[in-house]
Amino acid sequence: MERKSLIGLPFAELMRYFKAYDLTAMQARQTWEWMYRHGVRYFKDMTNLSLSVRKQLEQVYSCERLPVQYNKTSTDGTQKWLFRLENTENSADDTTFEAIETVFIPEETRATICLSSQVGCALQCRFCRTGTQGYTRNLTLYEIVAQVLSVKDAIDDWPKDPLTHRLKNIVFMGMGEPLLNYEALKKVLEIFMDPHGLAFSRHRITVSTSGITPMLERLARECRVPLALSLHASSEALRSDLMPINEHYPLKDLMQAVRMYPALSGTDKVTIEYALLKGINDSPADARALLSLLRGIPAKVNLLTLNPWEGAPFTPSSPQIYATFSRILTQGGIDCFRRRSRGQDILAACGQLRANKVYSTS
Ligand code: SF4
Repeated sequence: MERKSLIGLPFAELMRYFKAYDLTAMQARQTWEWMYRHGVRYFKDMTNLSLSVRKQLEQVYSCERLPVQYNKTSTDGTQKWLFRLENTENSADDTTFEAIETVFIPEETRATICLSSQVGCALQCRFCRTGTQGYTRNLTLYEIVAQVLSVKDAIDDWPKDPLTHRLKNIVFMGMGEPLLNYEALKKVLEIFMDPHGLAFSRHRITVSTSGITPMLERLARECRVPLALSLHASSEALRSDLMPINEHYPLKDLMQAVRMYPALSGTDKVTIEYALLKGINDSPADARALLSLLRGIPAKVNLLTLNPWEGAPFTPSSPQIYATFSRILTQGGIDCFRRRSRGQDILAACGQLRANKVYSTS
């Protein structure tokens, strides 16, 4: 019998599973804490459960992580994993399988993990490499939660005192549009924030969207996590050209929803992601248009440099252009930050992820 993974099951569901085997709510809670507080992956090591319960669990369930196809480390310390997904189309074939990429960005005390939410992405933003691979499917709860557990294993981040965890920030900025996998997103956020387990602060989990306007109110009311908006243009025409999703959810309605987000969610300012593309969206007039678009919206701007990838149809703006753009925003009263690119040399930076479906394992 194939063992079922307990990873990614909401706690209420885990209890139902346990009940089906005459196991108690207390045993479910203990197992949950072993999995998410201590990072234990084998039932035999869950030592406050009786030996017979451990054996019983081992027979029917598992806490296995995602198989790692490879792991790369950048010169700046950023790490990227290519995880194979369990339900590959043809597991006997070792060269064709579904996969996702996950990135770990180290900092002394507050490291960040960048998670994927879908296999590929349907939205085809023109500056993004993930968009070039197309969409395969949404990730399951297991596949999203297991990214965090796998990376915490790899960086040995299961200290006794949860306050000393190195991994403090989660950003949904990897492959896929998280708001198009909303039901899974909502449940995994609950798992990430559960105080008996991983205990991430809700203020340290950021969901980045390309602008799925109808989902913003639910995200604000139900999940109450900080929002990042991948904006990149201040006019309908340019945004539709760069990000075809704008045809479905135009800027006008999107910005109205963004305006309401902080108050509805009880979060701080919305982060506006804006990648400067040479000669496309980087003129002083573009900066002023952005200022005007953001008027009255509780927002701060992350100015990004375009991270290069083969075949990218744009080039990054120069440092001078960057400085001018940034100055106009700051003088206009908008907090503006330059986000340092991390992991560019291993194609792990923003907009560079891609997991092809065919691999050579030789
Ligand atoms: S930027 Fe995000 S939404 Fe756009 S194609 Fe890339 S992964 Fe998809």
